[in-house]
Amino acid sequence: MPNIRLLLLLPAAILAGCTSVTQAPEFVARVERIERTRLEHSVRALDEIGPRPIEDSAATLRTTTWIREQLEEWGYVVTEEEVTRSAQTGRFTAQVRRADAGPGAETTEIELPASFASYGPRVRAAASRRLRADGWDVEGYSLSGGGRTAAPHIAPNLFAQVRGTEHPERIIEVSAHYDTVPGSSGASDNSSGVAVVLELARVLADATPRKTIRFCFFAAEEAGLLGGRVHVENITRADAPVLEALINLDSIGHATDAPDSQDAPLRIPLIAWIPTTGDFITVIGTNASGWLGNVFEAAADAYVPKLNYYSVNRLGGYFADARRSDHAPYWDADIPAIFLTDTGEFRSDTYHTHDDTAETIDYEFLHRVARATAAALLELTVR
Ligand SMILES: [Zn+2]
Repeated sequence: MPNIRLLLLLPAAILAGCTSVTQAPEFVARVERIERTRLEHSVRALDEIGPRPIEDSAATLRTTTWIREQLEEWGYVVTEEEVTRSAQTGRFTAQVRRADAGPGAETTEIELPASFASYGPRVRAAASRRLRADGWDVEGYSLSGGGRTAAPHIAPNLFAQVRGTEHPERIIEVSAHYDTVPGSSGASDNSSGVAVVLELARVLADATPRKTIRFCFFAAEEAGLLGGRVHVENITRADAPVLEALINLDSIGHATDAPDSQDAPLRIPLIAWIPTTGDFITVIGTNASGWLGNVFEAAADAYVPKLNYYSVNRLGGYFADARRSDHAPYWDADIPAIFLTDTGEFRSDTYHTHDDTAETIDYEFLHRVARATAAALLELTVR
């Protein structure tokens, strides 16, 4: 999209230098394995689950089970990271009876970690399974004393990865949050992102990258980027492997050719003039992640020339609206990250409403974004 890029930040463009990519035939073959119908199927499946805010542990469990099952079908080992919204104190106990002692047996109490009191049904079900395995029948749970700092909710970040053959300790992540705001099934925000990351996992399952590719499904983005924050805490521990970069996809399903369909948080002539037609994906990065934005844009040029993009790949750090997803804690931790988005409410009037449904998604646009992201990942990890 040279015409759009020319409008961009001239000084930044000069600083950014030039990244060019030539198509590799084996990459083309893999990129073209991405199926538009599968993307649509995923968005519709998540629509059927409906709203899945962190407060709704049943919908959260349905969502994570659905994601996990697909990844496992493609041969991945899925790992989890716990995201809690609050800390629980007090005495949390299970009321149990010996399973072999018959119905008249006396009830006794087993104390469990207080944090279990604030967990969703998944953790409690697992606790019950462990107690049953130890020969107990569980009659119920109770909490006495203590309190909690905020609403008691938990949800897992989910991960799957393709291990690098040469540098397994060097990791490139691609992420999407799977939660929604209450009352919205979130087709664009962010079933669109989840659908793409799942499809990337499917077509890359048998790839042999030099570096590790990790697929991330974040919890509780809408509750204050909790999933991304927790993950960044873990990956920045001293003994953690080197995380080289993140590509974060959030709200990537809406596009239109209608004139004047695109608003902007601000427009500065010659500096940041977001186009007025909302038919592009926005590539947002910071100065430190400009190289990563360059790789994505060069991959899009080479492999999916029909994908329009608008590049803010070095100046995102200066706009508050550019921080509104899970990549922001990465930026804070100095990990290169780019944010791909359709700009949410600057383009869509269904943003965060119950009208953000599968019918509103532009699947051709989503297919292009998915293929460009696949090409970028291949360029980053295989070449
Ligand atoms: Zn979102």
